[in-house]
Amino acid sequence: MKKENPFAIAQAQLDRAAEKLSLSPGVHAALREPMRELHVNIPVKMDDGKIKVFKGFRVQYNDARGPNKGGIRFHPEETIDTVRALAAWMTWKCAVVDIPLGGGKGGVICNPKEMSQGELERLSRAYIDAVGRMIGPEKDIPAPDVYTTPQIMAWMMDEYSKIKGCYTPGVITGKPLANGGSRGRGDATARGGMYCVRDAAAHLGIDLSKATAAIQGYGNAGYFAAVLSKELLGVKVVAVSDSHGGIYVPNGIDAEAVLHHKTNTGSVVGFPGSKAVSNEELLELDVDVLFPAALEEVITEENAERIKAKIVAELANGPTTPTADDILYKKGIFIIPDFLCNAGGVTVSYFEWVQNICSYYWEEEEVHERLNRKITKAFADVLSTSIDVHVDMRTAAYMVSVNRVADAMKLRGWV
Ligand code: NAD
Repeated sequence: MKKENPFAIAQAQLDRAAEKLSLSPGVHAALREPMRELHVNIPVKMDDGKIKVFKGFRVQYNDARGPNKGGIRFHPEETIDTVRALAAWMTWKCAVVDIPLGGGKGGVICNPKEMSQGELERLSRAYIDAVGRMIGPEKDIPAPDVYTTPQIMAWMMDEYSKIKGCYTPGVITGKPLANGGSRGRGDATARGGMYCVRDAAAHLGIDLSKATAAIQGYGNAGYFAAVLSKELLGVKVVAVSDSHGGIYVPNGIDAEAVLHHKTNTGSVVGFPGSKAVSNEELLELDVDVLFPAALEEVITEENAERIKAKIVAELANGPTTPTADDILYKKGIFIIPDFLCNAGGVTVSYFEWVQNICSYYWEEEEVHERLNRKITKAFADVLSTSIDVHVDMRTAAYMVSVNRVADAMKLRGWV
């Protein structure tokens, strides 16, 4: 099935909320498009001595509430519309957790799996050289996303610091601890998702100690979701997958052992004692909680009828299409929408930026406590809007966020 344009999806989601909020046409129009975007062509010397030119983007969606914030994705199928959609979702994400940041996103069309460390370092530095004038601790603060790592953030921070002539850790988040990273950033996205699932289960009356989960994707978000589902919620994770396929273990996986297997073989597939499942089958398993934690548009009108989970906790950005949303809502499936469910990452990125600016670093427990407070409040705001206005959780999350961004724009005199 052909994928829908992710930015058209982001705009359609906004349109639904705009209608519920009776947003004025001018404010609505201003929120439907990014404020600014930069397209760059980046020549990089490859290991064979030849020059390869990569296409890169940086989109600044809206900075009414503070500097733009959003990750950089390295992916062979990256498109400007994916970056635009992700930048829009970052705007709503920062607003829903009420942190003083706007939304941005970056990307480079490349395949990091086929590049050496040296090539990746040269591309990372060249990307910062190309977009450097647009970013900065007070303007736009990137972070990791799919296939970009703390090491890549360290190279990027170093390159920006060289351009500025001084150590500038606040330009980028998701850095290693030794380079001004924050404690608690590694598992923050999944941890925020766990707090949401905890509160959703309490609302729905689900006993999580007897619950099962399936996770699509076994990278940063998916792996830590596997660890923390068990550790924080007592949930048994019976299936996980990656780009090569999935595994099913009825008695529950050992998250560390699966990671070890993936590190050694390149995939979770073939984990001893597991049954193979495809990524499509994993989504349709009879589990209590389904975590899409890979890429966009995996729950569509094709498979939405067959989803059996009681809670869909969207750790990935944009995993559910609007048509699938309607089907899941009618089936009574409780969706924790992406920009609420995965907001833990940007919340701790915000904490990292604050610590960089203050040059004062917090203990891990303090990070967890502050994250818990932010996510608990955001979930409660969205749930109460959903109940009061009789809308699904995604529309409710949009209503909360769009209101906050629109207010900031109005007060600044933009609209
Ligand atoms: P990652 O690169 O660490 O991991 C991605 C995982 O997805 C890998 O296991 C990969 O094998 C798997 N994958 C790729 N294509 C797949 C496919 N077609 N089917 C199944 N699995 C596939 O990336 P990540 O940081 O974990 O990001 C995953 C999702 O979470 C993305 O949508 C990202 O935007 C979102 N997200 C991440 C963060 C964060 O802090 N890492 C924050 C917010 C949102």
